[in-house]
Amino acid sequence: MMTLSMYILIGILGLGIGSFLNVVIYRLPKGLSLLGPRSLCPSCNSVIRCYDNIPVLSFVLLRRKCRQCGALISWRYPLVELLTALMLIVMAVRYGWGIEFLKFSVLCLVLLPISFIDWDEKIIPNRLTFSGFIAGIAITLIFQIELWLSMLLGMTAGGLFMIGLMVLGKLIFKKDAMGMGDVKFIIMIGTYVGVAGVFISIYLAAVTALVILAIPLILKKIKFGDQIPFGPFLAIGTIVYLLVGTDLIHWYRNLVMG
Ligand SMILES: [Zn+2]
Repeated sequence: MMTLSMYILIGILGLGIGSFLNVVIYRLPKGLSLLGPRSLCPSCNSVIRCYDNIPVLSFVLLRRKCRQCGALISWRYPLVELLTALMLIVMAVRYGWGIEFLKFSVLCLVLLPISFIDWDEKIIPNRLTFSGFIAGIAITLIFQIELWLSMLLGMTAGGLFMIGLMVLGKLIFKKDAMGMGDVKFIIMIGTYVGVAGVFISIYLAAVTALVILAIPLILKKIKFGDQIPFGPFLAIGTIVYLLVGTDLIHWYRNLVMG
């Protein structure tokens, strides 16, 4: 059983990790080091002091403004911090204290920066997918060796399926609708969620994308075949699977078996 104080602790830890993920989202696509130097204000380049760099709290206390130059601070920063904390708390509620909580929290912490970077830059950095991939394999082999086959099938079947979609997209739209970044991303997800999980996640991602993109499609703001980053939708699909996936499988079985 987890107590309220444990959830609060996980939340605070999440805010701190989220603060680091902001650095990842900002620096990784630019090829900058994640470890140093200290964060600067993007407007006036002054060093942000420790007491002005407290997740969420500083944003509120500074009323969204840089202490030195008064430039507005992006909503993105507290949003990423709050999302990170929320994801970890939700995983703790769903899985309780144990190896699944650890494993799926690690996955969430990779999904989040990938989503934002893919949305901004239309790329999925290899460094993130590869680190996530190695961590997923390591956690499974060390703590959940019984899942090795599902993991292996999850990454290969998921990867092959995405390559199939990519080829199909190329034939239909005559241009690249998806990239190798998406393939590597789904291979990484497969190492965490296994073979059933990877297909349900892709399915949920496609449904989410259709629902969210329906309005701009109808308004003709975008059209089929446009370059739309699929990474954020894959991340959402995977998180929905982590939360309700087993319920979905039961529900479907009951539906089919009567
Ligand atoms: Zn400034």
